[in-house]
Amino acid sequence: MKPAPDAPPALRLPSVDRVLQAPVAQALALRFGHRAVSDAVRHALARQREAMLGGEGMPDATPESLALSVGDWLEKRDQPSQRRVFNLTGTVLHTNLGRAILPEAAIEAVVAAMRHPTTLEFSLEGGQRGERDDHVRGLVRELTGAEDACLVNNNAAAVLLVLATHAKGRETIVSRGELIEIGGSFRLPEIMRRAQTKLVEVGATNRTHAADFEQAIGPKTGLLLKAHTSNYSIQGFTAEVPAATLATIAHKHGLPLFDDLGSGTLVDLAQYGLKRERTVQDALRDGADLVSFSGDKLLGGPQAGFIVGRKDLVRACAKNHLKRTIRLDKLRLAALEATLKLYRDPDRLAEALPTLRFFARKRAEIQAQAGRLLAAWSAFVPSDWTAGILDCASQIGSGALPLDTLPSAALFATPPGTRKGKALDSLSLQLRRLPVPVIGRIHEDRLLLDLRCLDDEPMFLSQLASQTVRVPS
Ligand SMILES: *Cc1c(COP(=O)(O)O)cnc(C)c1O
Repeated sequence: MKPAPDAPPALRLPSVDRVLQAPVAQALALRFGHRAVSDAVRHALARQREAMLGGEGMPDATPESLALSVGDWLEKRDQPSQRRVFNLTGTVLHTNLGRAILPEAAIEAVVAAMRHPTTLEFSLEGGQRGERDDHVRGLVRELTGAEDACLVNNNAAAVLLVLATHAKGRETIVSRGELIEIGGSFRLPEIMRRAQTKLVEVGATNRTHAADFEQAIGPKTGLLLKAHTSNYSIQGFTAEVPAATLATIAHKHGLPLFDDLGSGTLVDLAQYGLKRERTVQDALRDGADLVSFSGDKLLGGPQAGFIVGRKDLVRACAKNHLKRTIRLDKLRLAALEATLKLYRDPDRLAEALPTLRFFARKRAEIQAQAGRLLAAWSAFVPSDWTAGILDCASQIGSGALPLDTLPSAALFATPPGTRKGKALDSLSLQLRRLPVPVIGRIHEDRLLLDLRCLDDEPMFLSQLASQTVRVPS
């Protein structure tokens, strides 16, 4: 709106200089810099002036009150965009929440690698250039039994590199039941197009037989691909060709078998109460020539993609120019090395590796934690709501073991009345607005906070106790 030239209230606003002289503003300048604070004060005054001319705003704005509101604004702007949160969704490896959280050993290794020059591509013995993947190659060979290993940005990149190296301009045969899409952005047919390999689908969605592969193999075949159906399961009248049979077929024709495991695990997960998932070692033992898997799924490390297997085939991937565009940086190599070393001590792995620690938590232990938090939770939710503890089922997440769930326990809250949706959304929003946002999930008219991944209980408790919520009825 158009300001009247003689509007008197705007004249009562303090000058920029007077606001900047307020002690609060001086403190802000020390923290955010003089330039940022004076810009923010100028903006705040301009907004005030406009509001007052429109008959709104704070008519009695003082230098102090203006400096305080500028401080709030600067504080908010300064918050990191990527915020720490509490993952109480019940999905342990939540892709949108950053998947695996790193073990302490990895965090320390990353900090050290950030702070100093390192031997990333340097051999101390010979004083000449080294290879960055050497920092983990030996470990991966030791832990998986593979002849060689090559590391890239993520498993999607690993699949792309394998296909582009070994099937470019040729055909890749895959079962129709395994043409996977992971999280919308990883689609096998699309990756194949990018790698310039021709997709040859065999079998039917629910049943594929050895003969289907045999018949599809021809002079243009480059690779047989087996992809883990990570985020779904085909049940009922089904048939899948076992990896070992596929390997035999591939080798009979002098072709390599590539097994995209997705969520690579190096240990038998049955000991942590999960279903037994094929390990990387299993895939190699079954005869796969190349196996790929992620670093930040079941492995519990940083985002990374592994290519392991036959030496000549892995070396060819490492030598492909594409590798240069998807290689790992020193930070992730440091994190990966430290994470993998924990696998040398299987007895204490579940203590040291947060992902496994979360998987291994028993329902009784989580119920006991819920019991400790119930009073604070009940006080936090609006008084006319029902709050309590409920048994629930956690998911592994990230497409690992899609049908497997872990018995868990949750704090829940349910609003009164019949139309609960809006109230539940509102409480979820209040939880997301806490200093450390809490991410739960809504299920059957209840807001659930699955406590499986709650490690910082004191922080969670203290912020519940210090907030009151307002939920519109
Ligand atoms: C998760 C997954 C991928 C993609 O791995 P990212 O590490 O997320 O790139 C590829 N293939 C399978 C089978 C997967 O489960």
